[in-house]
Order: sequence, then C-alpha cells, then structure tokens
Amino acid sequence: MRCALCNSCMDSHAHLFFQCTYAERIWSALKRKILATDLPLDWGDLVNAMVTRFKNRNIRSIVSKIVLGAGVYYIWQERNKRQFTTDKRPAETLLEVILESVKLRLMSIRVLNSTQVNNVTKEWDIKFKNVQHSR
Ligand SMILES: [Zn+2]
Repeated sequence: MRCALCNSCMDSHAHLFFQCTYAERIWSALKRKILATDLPLDWGDLVNAMVTRFKNRNIRSIVSKIVLGAGVYYIWQERNKRQFTTDKRPAETLLEVILESVKLRLMSIRVLNSTQVNNVTKEWDIKFKNVQHSR
C-alpha cells in the first residue's frame, strides 16, 4: 500500500508520523511555530516528550498540545480524504488550515493575563476572548 500523502510505499502509522515527507514538512513547520524544533518525530518518542515537557498548565504547554493535536488530526484527515476523493491539498495549504484551526481553538480558551499570554497573542496574531486578570 502506498502512502496517499507522499506516494511512497508503506502506509503505516510509523510511516505517517515518522518517515512521510509530506507529514514531515508540516511537523517541522509546527515545531518551529511552538519553538520546539528538537521534539522527536517518532510517534512513541513524541508522545513521551509531550507528556514530560508539556505537563504544566502554562500557556506555552497548552498551545503546544493544541498545535500537535491539530497536526495529528489534520494529517490523518488528509490521508483519509485522499483515499476516497481526488482532492489533494498541498502541505502548505494544510499547514494554513491547521494554523487557522489552532487560532480558533486558542481564542476560545480561558487564560490568566500574563506576559507569556501577551507574547502568545502577538505570535499568533489573536485575541483571547476570555482573559482573567489576576489580583
Ligand atoms: Zn507518506
């Protein structure tokens, strides 16, 4: 079975998140966006790294988890779509879709006002709808 994304052999979970050139382009862009270019691409290692690195409930961890979750979801969705339709979104387009979805998710979460939260607002060009101010 050929991977529907990069058209090379071996359509497997390991391929999709580890060796796929299409997914790799998206992952490297997402990792740059969350300032975590050193995150492993291997699926098991990635999950482990996320559990330890993003266990805090600070805004950076929350953003990273939303980004990685959206990456998994949309890469998987694109792969499934290609098996049933002829629609093919280039990696750049899918990346835009992922970043837009992350922005929407981010804007809806409740945050505590902080310098980090302000930085995220600038980096992502968003406005949080639900900001609590600490006393
Ligand atoms: Zn592939």
